[in-house]
Amino acid sequence: MAKSAKYLKTSFLGGVGEIGKNMTVIECGEDMIVVDMGASFPKEDSPGMDAIIPDITYLKQNLKRLRGVVLTHGHEDHIGAIPYYADVLKGVPIYGTSLTIGLLRRKLEKNAKKCNLVTVAAGDTVTLGGIKVEFIKVCHSMAGACALAVYTQGGTVFVTGDFKIDNTPIDGKKTNIQRIAEIGAKGVALMLGESTNVERKGSSTSEMVVGQNLEGIFAANKKKRLIVACFASSNYRVQQVLTLAHKYGRKVVLAGKSMKGMVDVASACGELNVPKGVIVESIGKLKPGETLILATGSQGEPLSALNKLSKGEFNKINVGSDDVVVLSSSPIPGNEKAVYDVINALFKKGAEVIYDSMNDIHVSGHAYEEELKLMLSLVHPEYFMPVHGEYRHQHKHSAIARALGIPSKNIVIPAIGESYSVTSKGFRKHSKVHAGNIYVDGVILEDGEAVVSDRRSLAEYGMILLLAAVDISRGALAGEVDVVARGFSLTDDVERSIKNAVADAVYSSDFDKADIDEYAKCMKRAVRKLFMRDRQFPIIIPVVVED
Ligand SMILES: [Zn+2]
Ligand SMILES: [Zn+2]
Repeated sequence: MAKSAKYLKTSFLGGVGEIGKNMTVIECGEDMIVVDMGASFPKEDSPGMDAIIPDITYLKQNLKRLRGVVLTHGHEDHIGAIPYYADVLKGVPIYGTSLTIGLLRRKLEKNAKKCNLVTVAAGDTVTLGGIKVEFIKVCHSMAGACALAVYTQGGTVFVTGDFKIDNTPIDGKKTNIQRIAEIGAKGVALMLGESTNVERKGSSTSEMVVGQNLEGIFAANKKKRLIVACFASSNYRVQQVLTLAHKYGRKVVLAGKSMKGMVDVASACGELNVPKGVIVESIGKLKPGETLILATGSQGEPLSALNKLSKGEFNKINVGSDDVVVLSSSPIPGNEKAVYDVINALFKKGAEVIYDSMNDIHVSGHAYEEELKLMLSLVHPEYFMPVHGEYRHQHKHSAIARALGIPSKNIVIPAIGESYSVTSKGFRKHSKVHAGNIYVDGVILEDGEAVVSDRRSLAEYGMILLLAAVDISRGALAGEVDVVARGFSLTDDVERSIKNAVADAVYSSDFDKADIDEYAKCMKRAVRKLFMRDRQFPIIIPVVVED
């Protein structure tokens, strides 16, 4: 097919086969747009990293054709990579609703000047070269979330974004089902549907219910201090807490930088209504029943306000029997241990902790099975790709689409780096585009994969340092090698076998005995072989000096 042909092509740089770092490229002819540029939080398999972001080599290769970046909403897994790529995106317009752009601007800090940030409202359509993008209001756990209808000459792509269908949202702004149905009726070539909660039967609970249950806690604990922890980005949750605090005569102290930042940004763009005088800087002389601490750290994050509170390390506040702590969230898979550690610490201090889903103090912002079915029925796309989920979520979502009448041959489960076009003849799979993980540890790491694999070995098997002096003139070791182990204990036997293995290898191997580096390589190889026999992989660092 000629390059200029107006067919629709969709490539995935992140957010498929995983929940996190969403990034999709949509192209038609010479025009290219990007939907979302998110980051993932590192898990235990990438210790010590700040974030993982998509490799954007494919964008860099096509920068001249990139007409804009469109953002569905302001969660980290949708906007988190942008600050790292601010220089690449210089001049490229980035579109989002006011809360999304407000949060992004705050993240970008001084780099915001470099970026061309454009605020749109739900209902707006923007023109990006030959592509038009319409923003459609959907409910989610934060305000300003939108689905996107991407109109191209090769057909329409409907991107659900993260959504739920909440008929009683606390700001009254419902998912715009009517508009979605209209777009569906005009014909949608391809739908990209989020799959996060596809395993949950029925429909998600309204955010309103959380408010009712939180109010029960306020009413039952009038003499106690309340500490509520939730995601800073959950502006509806924050809103309900502030409204209730005001109603029950409590002053609110915001704990955690991101909580303060979110309240600033959301109130500035009209997505948060802070009752006058309800937020104070410190507890001062207020009684427990007159105060509420609204904290970040509902996921047990080590440096968060709640974690510090649980250890008595936050503003000299002593949590004790006068406190009721409410974790208004559920642990993201992988965070359970950290969350329960914090809960244990709080109980030990004598506080009451309310934390499980039994209390309905948290609802999800993602559609359940019935809502996903409704979305598929309204859009009734010709082709369907499940996104925003691990493979099992995508698999289940595909089955639902089939059950709703989309033929199997029109459903594809995409993976990172894959690229598909939709033509009148069906899906066509293209060769993979450059894609992958980029690790961030303070800065973008050039060789992130190697660093991660080193850290994994270090965590699992420890490290061995081999210190040797060589006598170049003789081409031999000047003495026995010194062995230092970290992360495991070295028995005399093992130490002896390492020393012997090194001595034997240097003596019997054929390498350039005038080159110091060659000794190091030879020593490392010998010790590696020794440990391989027991399937152990410590990091081995040879340090060789001339005697
Ligand atoms: Zn989201
Ligand atoms: Zn998301």
